[in-house]
Amino acid sequence: MPLTAPESRPKCLCVVPESTVPCLQLGLIRSETVFMPAKPPLKIVLCSPRGFCAGVVRAIDTVERALAIYGAPVYVRHEIVHNRYVVDSLKTKGAIFVEELAEIPDNTNAPVVFSAHGVPKSVPADARARNFFSLDATCPLVTKVHREAAIHFKRGREILLIGHSHHPEVVGTLGQLPPGAVTLIETAEDAATFTPKDPNNLAFVTQTTLSIDDTAEIVEMLKERFPNISGPHKEDICYATTNRQLAVKKVAPVVDALIVVGAPNSSNSQRLREVAEREGCRIAILAQRAGDLDWSRFHGIKSLGITAGASAPEVIVEEIMGAFAERYELHVETVSAAEENEFFPLPRSLRPDAAE
Ligand code: SF4
Repeated sequence: MPLTAPESRPKCLCVVPESTVPCLQLGLIRSETVFMPAKPPLKIVLCSPRGFCAGVVRAIDTVERALAIYGAPVYVRHEIVHNRYVVDSLKTKGAIFVEELAEIPDNTNAPVVFSAHGVPKSVPADARARNFFSLDATCPLVTKVHREAAIHFKRGREILLIGHSHHPEVVGTLGQLPPGAVTLIETAEDAATFTPKDPNNLAFVTQTTLSIDDTAEIVEMLKERFPNISGPHKEDICYATTNRQLAVKKVAPVVDALIVVGAPNSSNSQRLREVAEREGCRIAILAQRAGDLDWSRFHGIKSLGITAGASAPEVIVEEIMGAFAERYELHVETVSAAEENEFFPLPRSLRPDAAE
């Protein structure tokens, strides 16, 4: 039976923009303009700065340059930076990741790279003993903390390291000095209960990727208890950690939800999520990829902040924005807390002029 003539059909009441999908109300295939549901609006507030810091760029460049000069494989001790996407893409180029040097075969000529987090002194010593060609991608700001600890030790001071146990940076800093020379302080309670050998001969250093506020509280308590304690002029928390936290502090109070692009084992990414929560953001989520997002958590939101930890590439921020763009009409703005121009040169043996 022919369909009812167009002019005599009941008018479709669908409230949607142009398309040629079937009209569900009337069961008729419409070839003329019909309407699709409009996407709800969503304001995206991008935190700036976010993502890669100078130390991470240098570490990744170290592996890539070593691959370009010496070819595959290049061994890397520990994840070069705490990001699976970065690690996987270096693997496809020929990097082999190991946790300990013992996993690397003897007599290899391949370069061995130490990660951005730094290593205990025993690691380069072991690499030398096994005649490995090692390349140190330790961030220069972590190396600076190692030097501070060594100076305090030379001056005979008892040293406190404010940081999180088991994090590779903390393991590396503890490993700069003999066992027992450094005491780890993880919490304000640790600072309140610590008993020094000599309260007038103390020093502290800090992990670079801590919460600014937590660390300030711990340092304040130590200074109150031990007024003669020596320490860095400012804490050792690096510029990148500081700036990313400042940007989150600006954005978190004015958005309904905030996503931190980063890995669960990335200290600075975890701190960003905590900062967002403390600033009153109800939904503060750490996500490695768009596929990790639980969309039910974003139901009804009108605004979303996005930042990325210092080891998270911008391509994943774009991937996540793309996933939101499929569901929402995005209006994007950026809130900036600082300008960054830091650059750390490659290890000397990888610089273009190394052979000259
Ligand atoms: Fe260096 Fe800070 Fe980046 Fe860590 S987060 S690699 S300390 S600049």
